[in-house]
Amino acid sequence: MVEEKPNGAVAPWARVLLVEDEADIRELIRYSLAQAGLEVEEASDGAEALDKLRAFVPDLIVLDLMLPGMPGLEVCRRLRSRADTARLPIMVVSAKSSPSEKALGLAMGADDYVCKPFSPRDLLMRAIALLPQR
Ligand code: CA
Repeated sequence: MVEEKPNGAVAPWARVLLVEDEADIRELIRYSLAQAGLEVEEASDGAEALDKLRAFVPDLIVLDLMLPGMPGLEVCRRLRSRADTARLPIMVVSAKSSPSEKALGLAMGADDYVCKPFSPRDLLMRAIALLPQR
């Protein structure tokens, strides 16, 4: 099944690295992305995410901010400082919804900032908008 964007363009097949420590939320996001035909690799913390990036080259990272160990913003900063991930689209998903938290996330290099609780369909549409166009 291929999801359609609001403008009618079809989402390209793409790979997503999903970084989220809460299993229920991770599964919810994984399911909606996979339903749209995207390949999803999962990591439950920042260290695992950085490790997976050695072998897995995604088109988008969906990144929770409140993670055990390395904070999501630090993961974001590291991704932006690496040549191979400097321009990789990053979608932050966070329960921190204040304007200053959003501004900080965007300043650290996030391309979009989705607040929890989110609608899976909204998250999917915004994820597709960040993917490279075919
Ligand atoms: Ca979390």
